[in-house]
Amino acid sequence: MPNKKSGCYKNIMINVEIDKNSGFCFGVVTAIESAERELKSSAKLYCLGDIVHNSLEVERLEAMGLQTIEHDEFARLKGKKVLLRAHGEPPSTYETALRNQITIVDATCPVVLQLQRKIHKCYEATRDKNTQIVIYGKKGHAEVNGLVGQTDGTAIVIEKINDLDRINFNSNICLFSQTTKSLDGFRQIVAEIQRRIHEGVNFEYFDTICRQVANRLPNIKAFASKHDWIYFVAGNKSSNGRMLFEECKKANPNTIFISDVEEIKEPLPKDVKSVGVCGATSTPKWLMEKVAIKIRELTNFK
Ligand code: SF4
Repeated sequence: MPNKKSGCYKNIMINVEIDKNSGFCFGVVTAIESAERELKSSAKLYCLGDIVHNSLEVERLEAMGLQTIEHDEFARLKGKKVLLRAHGEPPSTYETALRNQITIVDATCPVVLQLQRKIHKCYEATRDKNTQIVIYGKKGHAEVNGLVGQTDGTAIVIEKINDLDRINFNSNICLFSQTTKSLDGFRQIVAEIQRRIHEGVNFEYFDTICRQVANRLPNIKAFASKHDWIYFVAGNKSSNGRMLFEECKKANPNTIFISDVEEIKEPLPKDVKSVGVCGATSTPKWLMEKVAIKIRELTNFK
């Protein structure tokens, strides 16, 4: 049986280690716990958008009674209970809930909630001063929609340096970041604004990147390079998964991407002595544990 504390399995043939830094961030863990708690007392709970970008975890919760809905369906609901996931929502979602007697189970991550409040406060304080609120993030992403909502939809979302052409450098700027963006990207945006801003114009920036995710990159590279073989576990739709997988592969070319345990078919090459199992921020721990068990079974049959 696995040693749950260290996440390590040992047998005479190979060592299998699960990366303790991989898997859900605490915001997602808390949202899933809220859903599980609610589903103990009610047979049905709606969730606005996927609770996590991992189909296996979504299916597990759906089997318990969770039903994922999108915003158009949410607007038509009346008198139901709806969970808001860790990404958070704009004020309009709460207004709809109030109008339609919807009970909200608010699982917005406290870090996101704090960022929403900070942006709202900045918007209130600067709206008469010709200040542009700029958010470095992915257009249309649920968290970014929630952040833009704090500014009555006026914030300018930029994804890359080229998008900076949409900013007026002769007018004050307040820059924030979506919590899951890269630190390097944020620093490049700050440097470019500093280069282009006109003299005497005010530029303030706030590094609002969550370290739960930002630290994953250096951690996972170090983890990948200390093993002979890596199974990287993530859903096919996870963009964070693809990015971390590419980095893992650079650190260790023997890195294999899998979404589920059935994708491991072959025994490992004979010279492999240690295997690492890691994944994205959307990869459930239980799935990585299943992968580790499967590797051990295959190794025993060699
Ligand atoms: S990445 Fe950070 S801010 Fe975003 S949900 Fe997870 S813990 Fe919260």
